[in-house]
Amino acid sequence: MLVVMKQSATEEEIGRVVEQIRVMGYDARPIPGHQRTAVGLIGNDGRVDSARLEGLSGVLEVIVVSHPYKQVSREWREEDTIVTLANGTRIGGSEIALMAGPCAVESREQILETAHALQAMGATILRGGAFKPRSSPYSFQGLGLEGLRYLAEAREATGMAVVTEALGTEDVEVVAEYADIIQIGARNMQNYALLRKAGQSGKPVLLKRGMSATIKELLLSAEYLLAEGNDQVILCERGVRSFDTHTRNLLDLTAIPVVKSLSHLPIIADPSHGTGIRAKVTPMARAAVAAGADGLMIEVHPRPEEALSDGAQSLYLPQFGDLMDQIRHIARALDRHVVPSLHGTASAISAS
Ligand code: PEP
Ligand code: MN
Repeated sequence: MLVVMKQSATEEEIGRVVEQIRVMGYDARPIPGHQRTAVGLIGNDGRVDSARLEGLSGVLEVIVVSHPYKQVSREWREEDTIVTLANGTRIGGSEIALMAGPCAVESREQILETAHALQAMGATILRGGAFKPRSSPYSFQGLGLEGLRYLAEAREATGMAVVTEALGTEDVEVVAEYADIIQIGARNMQNYALLRKAGQSGKPVLLKRGMSATIKELLLSAEYLLAEGNDQVILCERGVRSFDTHTRNLLDLTAIPVVKSLSHLPIIADPSHGTGIRAKVTPMARAAVAAGADGLMIEVHPRPEEALSDGAQSLYLPQFGDLMDQIRHIARALDRHVVPSLHGTASAISAS
């Protein structure tokens, strides 16, 4: 439930609404906005009697949030949430953010080489798994802490922000220390302990849709993050399981406009895991941006045939450059633009 205050409402009137909500046994969260202040009521799992709030002075109206997810809903917050990273990259609003890099950090040389090339082509966020969720326990599991250190070195060298996955609650602290964005992978979308921990970290979180999760379940998982006080959340459509075996997953592009109408959170697309096929990544990346995605996550490897994971869906570096050019065109047609590149930022950072 959302108690919308009149524009003329005073601090005291807002304070009285907060107090009344607490007396009723719920949590109150004031939400200042451009137009008006609202006070969110959380902690209820069903209907709340609004009569005691409607009568208070300064109250314009009481809106019953119709979805089981509350703080992530558009009803709760009309304006788009914009996630801003330390390097200035903004995710959401009119910008389109490009996250790119290998599936896994494999060596210091591999991640530095990739980061320099991607930065030169205009990507501002570097991806790379240090803790890898692999279907087989015998597959490469990632370099762990060593991988995080190489990612941090690549950030220092290029100015790119870093996104990398936390596989379990025990990883959250160290990932938060090294990364700009904590990734929660598809297999962990409903790991509620992990969501709570990531929510408490204070770092932006990239939440990937589970491979058989509904959009409602995705939004409810995001609600766990916001319920912990973290509204710096980016959603990611990365494909769902389908009956068709031609592609690794079925990239559900409908989810993008659906999520945009239901939620104020930014949503990006990952056509690499969404298709599993290198040649299909670029067309689906174009389609995702055309559908309204706020960004892309793309797997890129300097030598995909040598990759320790997901080589078949990783673009060659020059292919990523072509993709960037095409995305810039599509963005322009939609009155949007790709996040400005960081050329010169690294030297600017080291000079300061
Ligand atoms: C990844 O991005 O490295 C990854 C494992 O993706 P997903 O969780 O979507 O499978
Ligand atoms: Mn991968």
